[in-house]
Amino acid sequence: MAYVICDPCAGAKDKACVEVCPMDCIAEGPERLYINPDECIDCGACAPACPVGAIFPDVEVPEKWKSCIAQNAAFFATGPSGHEGAGRSSNE
Ligand code: SF4
Ligand code: SF4
Repeated sequence: MAYVICDPCAGAKDKACVEVCPMDCIAEGPERLYINPDECIDCGACAPACPVGAIFPDVEVPEKWKSCIAQNAAFFATGPSGHEGAGRSSNE
């Protein structure tokens, strides 16, 4: 299981979730942010930190945003420009 960022993040993108994630597994994409399902430990810290309610455990994602589960995973599978591992930006 993993947490998932859904459509309401687009337009907000305040990165409050990034601040609280202990795994550093939330990355910024062109439209919104995404959670790496392979690294998320389901701690739940990000969900209440989100001002627009965009973050859900994958089993609780509302029906209208189900496609976001695959979108979060796909972001890390290919990266924003097609290279693996892109999206991690805080390991400088
Ligand atoms: S549930 Fe925890 S580990 Fe997973 S993305 Fe949110 S803050 Fe990070
Ligand atoms: S806290 Fe919510 S709105 Fe802000 S960047 Fe994270 S998912 Fe997007």
